[in-house]
Amino acid sequence: MLNIGCTLSSSKGYLHMGKESLKINANTFAFFTRNPRGGKAKDINPDDIAAFLKLAEENNFSQLVAHAPYTLNACSNKEETREFALNIMADDLARMEYTPNQLYNFHPGSHVGQGVEAGIELIAKQLNTVLKPDMTTTVLLETMAGKGSEIGRSFEELREIIDKVELNEKLGVCLDTCHVYDAGYDIVNNLDGVLDEFDKIIGLDRLKAIHMNDSKNPFNSHKDRHEKIGEGSIGFDAMVNIINHPRLKNLPVILETPNELDGYAQEIKMLRNAYTQD
Ligand code: FE
Ligand code: FE
Ligand code: ZN
Repeated sequence: MLNIGCTLSSSKGYLHMGKESLKINANTFAFFTRNPRGGKAKDINPDDIAAFLKLAEENNFSQLVAHAPYTLNACSNKEETREFALNIMADDLARMEYTPNQLYNFHPGSHVGQGVEAGIELIAKQLNTVLKPDMTTTVLLETMAGKGSEIGRSFEELREIIDKVELNEKLGVCLDTCHVYDAGYDIVNNLDGVLDEFDKIIGLDRLKAIHMNDSKNPFNSHKDRHEKIGEGSIGFDAMVNIINHPRLKNLPVILETPNELDGYAQEIKMLRNAYTQD
């Protein structure tokens, strides 16, 4: 079964997101844990969570992919910005435990001139502070396009972070199709080669989710502008290859394309129709 969904607003709670997903024939979703500026998160309502978990179970939902505010920067050159990132992530991870065994994705960060190695150290340091042995959540490092001083533009950089984290059994990777294509991984002409490389450097067992986006920019552009499925430089056929690849089977696929709900419904329909595995 293809596990697919899109990014939804969390303002009306989990049950609402579950119902919105059913409306568009999705069986997973992503949501921002709080607004991008990182303000206070909505209070957890245990009744809402219980009702959602029941709906998810009845409708074969796969894991959810929560997204940290994309403004968090664990490797900022300012201490207060790093501390802010640390506090938000710690709070998010505590909240994630109300829905056990889900995925929490974050952008590793931008080193803003301190250098890749210094950035990787700071990211690992934050993870070593917030990850706890009894956590059930898997924290995902997202593959990045490499715009500006973004860390995570190569599989090697992600591997280095993972290697520096003590509880790295809590870590996985989310592969963003737009980001890796912009970063210079040719998933259009050489998907097998890219997956082999991922396996060699990180290990495919770490790959826990896919952000499925077409790209407004050409291969290797290091830009990160998402496009609707089939309307960008990656194209529909490459997306179909990804969802049908035996090594990517069962991963939650999250659309982060520029769409409203009806546009997402259309993309989910197209991709479900093109899905050939059982
Ligand atoms: Fe992201
Ligand atoms: Fe993404
Ligand atoms: Zn992006």
